[in-house]
Amino acid sequence: MSAAELMPLRCHFRDPSSEFDVGPGWRPLVLRCHEAVVAEFPEYELLAVKQKWAALAFQAFPRPWRRGGNWVSGEVDRLHALVAEFTAASEHICERCGNAGTLRETRPIELTLCGVCESVVGQDGRL
Ligand SMILES: [Zn+2]
Repeated sequence: MSAAELMPLRCHFRDPSSEFDVGPGWRPLVLRCHEAVVAEFPEYELLAVKQKWAALAFQAFPRPWRRGGNWVSGEVDRLHALVAEFTAASEHICERCGNAGTLRETRPIELTLCGVCESVVGQDGRL
């Protein structure tokens, strides 16, 4: 799966110059997370998609942020519940290749990787 397949998410970024800061192994997961979120929040606003503590961080608001509020708290809770499922799934998926992975703490940065990728990725954590 190439980075181009994440195009459907691009128009949701608050900052259009944002990049998807996750490895290729998580792209299908990111796309499925988007599909789950957009089904309930068609106008959702995306702040960041990145790896945080070896798990997927999909940071979004139910709608574009607006002074005075643009959603009710139940909507934020619902969005967080949708995203939490994919964050939990990412803890068992290699961020580099998409195979089954586990938490690796052999570098300054924590990553979720399979055994093969664990032996390939260097100390700088670049995938
Ligand atoms: Zn791997």
